[in-house]
Amino acid sequence: MRKPTGTWIIAGLAFSFVIALILFPRQRGQRARLVIQPPQGVAKFRPIRVCLVPEAVTTVSIQIDGPFQVTPVGGTQILLNQPRQAKTAVTLVLNGFRWDQRELSAPRLEITPAANGAVWVGEKEYPGKVQLIRIPGGRMQLVNVVPLEDYVACVVDSEMPREFGPEARKAQAITARSYALAQMQNANPGAFYDLHASTRSQKYNGRRYLSSDGRMLAGDSAESLQLAYETAGMVCTYEGKLFCTYYSAVCSGRTSLGSDFFSDAAFPHQSVICEWCADSPLYRWQTLRTNAEVQEKLHRYFADQGSRFESLTSLAVGPVPHPGGVAPVIMSDGKQTVSLPATTFRRILGTNGLYSHHFQVAAQGTNWVFTGSGNGHGVGLCQWGARGLGHAGKNGLEILAHYYPGAEVVVLTDE
Ligand SMILES: [Zn+2]
Repeated sequence: MRKPTGTWIIAGLAFSFVIALILFPRQRGQRARLVIQPPQGVAKFRPIRVCLVPEAVTTVSIQIDGPFQVTPVGGTQILLNQPRQAKTAVTLVLNGFRWDQRELSAPRLEITPAANGAVWVGEKEYPGKVQLIRIPGGRMQLVNVVPLEDYVACVVDSEMPREFGPEARKAQAITARSYALAQMQNANPGAFYDLHASTRSQKYNGRRYLSSDGRMLAGDSAESLQLAYETAGMVCTYEGKLFCTYYSAVCSGRTSLGSDFFSDAAFPHQSVICEWCADSPLYRWQTLRTNAEVQEKLHRYFADQGSRFESLTSLAVGPVPHPGGVAPVIMSDGKQTVSLPATTFRRILGTNGLYSHHFQVAAQGTNWVFTGSGNGHGVGLCQWGARGLGHAGKNGLEILAHYYPGAEVVVLTDE
């Protein structure tokens, strides 16, 4: 997940809210109360716009198994109206797009399948509409415009296996919705999309997808749809405002202090103890890097910074400055000693195998051995911890109360 940017775009729409439900108390022992004030700045939910590819593309494979129409985005002219579309490569031409043998003249296309239909984009099938948006440089962005709760259901199944249990997945649904709505509010006014379909935002595999070995897998399920609808409109708020709910896979015993990682981290991203994620395979891990690789990457990093770093002579990890904080990695080339945050050091080395910023390092022959714990930045809800808490009998709201202390869950409706 990444931090949101931009400004609110849906504030100011005419709306009224009925806040229907609560929530959990701010502190242990405090009784739940009915929230009657709506979070500020949240209006009627429009479909969320999900960017489907990490980089803009020049061609895209489209397949639609039922009736559909293609119109210009924001227009009514029907450019195509067909009972189905066999797999075809859509490319850019001078004034629009080439679709099979036709040329469709529009800078942006919107594919609208019939009710409950979906659109295959490459190896994944997405519910809702798909937009092909021409951008400068002869490329296009691919955007899925999907009803919020359908999106939430897919994210729940993409982010959390069913084995994690219904209460952990309920917490995940509320967290995913809060995150998505915060991204929607914070998207730049001119942006074509609100968030990404990957862990850059939240994992979103659509309704169905082909695995790397060619198997067809479900991206949502009756259970995830039910969880989304059961929790429909439920979001995390702090002091009456929706906040961006950061979360990660495995915190390994204590969540990270949110403000150390995200400039917009709301107060509930405090560092809290988590005793429930030890079942994760990445609770503890080890990875090796050759000294040559570490040296080369450090050389390149410091050269990019305009400085010089000679042969690495020592490497160690210092203590964390405060609970939930980031330890320094201290390195020397015999002439100078440099300290970098473990998060930065991890980025320099590449995150593959170095699953989190919690690690110690030791020399072993010509290698450096990294012994670490956890997976991801560790801020907010710990997904494996939510699983453990759910299996221990806590409900979804109690799970959220633990990982977002001080937050309240409210239900937003736009009656
Ligand atoms: Zn944890």
